[in-house]
Amino acid sequence: MGLLIKNGTIISAVDEFVGDILVENEKIKEVGVNLSEEGHEVVDATGKFVFPGGVDEHVHMGPFNSYSFETSHAAVVGGTTTIVDFAPQFEGMGLIESKDKHNKERAEGISTADYSFHTMVMDTDDKLLEEIPLMAENGLATVKLLMAYNGTPYHANDELIFRTMQIARDHGITVMLHCENGDMIVELENQLFEKGNKLPINWSYSRPALVEDEATRRAIYLAELADCPTFIVHVTTEGAMNHIKEAQERGLSVYGETCTHYLILDESYLNTPDIEGAKYVCAPALRPKPHQEALWKAVRDNDLIAVSSDHAAYRGGFAAKSLFEFPNIPPGAPGMQDRLAMLWSQGVEKGRISRQRFVEIFATSPAKMVGLYPQKGLISPGADADIVIYDPEYRGIITHADSYEGTDYSTYEGFERIGIAEKVYLRGKLMAERGKLVGDKGNGRYIKAKPYGLTYQNFKKEVKDKVLQ
Ligand code: MN
Repeated sequence: MGLLIKNGTIISAVDEFVGDILVENEKIKEVGVNLSEEGHEVVDATGKFVFPGGVDEHVHMGPFNSYSFETSHAAVVGGTTTIVDFAPQFEGMGLIESKDKHNKERAEGISTADYSFHTMVMDTDDKLLEEIPLMAENGLATVKLLMAYNGTPYHANDELIFRTMQIARDHGITVMLHCENGDMIVELENQLFEKGNKLPINWSYSRPALVEDEATRRAIYLAELADCPTFIVHVTTEGAMNHIKEAQERGLSVYGETCTHYLILDESYLNTPDIEGAKYVCAPALRPKPHQEALWKAVRDNDLIAVSSDHAAYRGGFAAKSLFEFPNIPPGAPGMQDRLAMLWSQGVEKGRISRQRFVEIFATSPAKMVGLYPQKGLISPGADADIVIYDPEYRGIITHADSYEGTDYSTYEGFERIGIAEKVYLRGKLMAERGKLVGDKGNGRYIKAKPYGLTYQNFKKEVKDKVLQ
């Protein structure tokens, strides 16, 4: 017996039509019109939208003292069926071994969402370069390096980034970069701190837009010289976005994402007379309002290809975060549960993006970037039956009372939500209904990523061969 979802308006990244979806053995078996009901469990989706479960390609489960995979059902309840976490490199351990350890300790048998991993460099040992050719066979297609966080294991200098790029591009590995100039941040932080500034708004003053613009530009130079497909994570400024656009117009394989909170929230959330703004301390910082419409336009026009949550929910929530003062407030904002609600309510319903574009940035392009497509991110025969049935008539308000993220606040508290994920299926299993978890926890599956993802779609090796002969 299969599951037959009838008469929904099925939305893909390119079209929509009223039709039926037949699910059998965790997969989509057939998509069509007037499919036979005989022998199947029928779910009537008349008047509802039906689209692929979300793929959140940028979440943090575990490091930074954040809640781990035990809260991944928050994503599922919100309509995101696959999350891609950054597996931090453990001290003295390689990228692949670190991923295995991280998976064993934090994800396996615990995650409710299906999941995959990016590697994250936290060590400058050359041995990591030798591992890059082995990544693909170990289910890894992405390596992240951070230009910020000087003086911590997270920081990678330009030399390491460049050398990583030179090797990665020969193996279909996408280099992901956090672009902020770490030297600028350290100096500004010190100057502000020495003057006695302790409030959350100083987080923003110490890492203004130019810090990101500069690093993004530099990252593009490095990518061009190494001739390596590159993905810039959490683009938050008009300047950085323009650098990426200009690079693409010159034919470079440089792509970027932004995150929900940079589209919705602005710098004023940090600017409170007390520590309340600590809730919104994240890196890069929330930006002054004019950047937001520029980012929406970039999302609409495919200058940015995905919107992730950059979910990082600090253990203990605001109660724990509020014990710190600038510059030591732990960064990170929860958001994997509300990504769909916010993109739909603020994007689709406000006419900033089409429904097709919504599906593309929410599920399809993220899956392609990571190397999970076409298993994830689309509704088509053979794909995993990760399906959202969306009731567009629902009206409500985002509130922490509905949150499964483990913290004591919601990043989007008080925002209107238009529509709700009426049913969320993960590989054909009903997991959530109208904001409530109804499925079992801990059955999320590890999905291995494949190399040569979206960033390689127009890539031709040229420059390196010219320079290094
Ligand atoms: Mn992040």
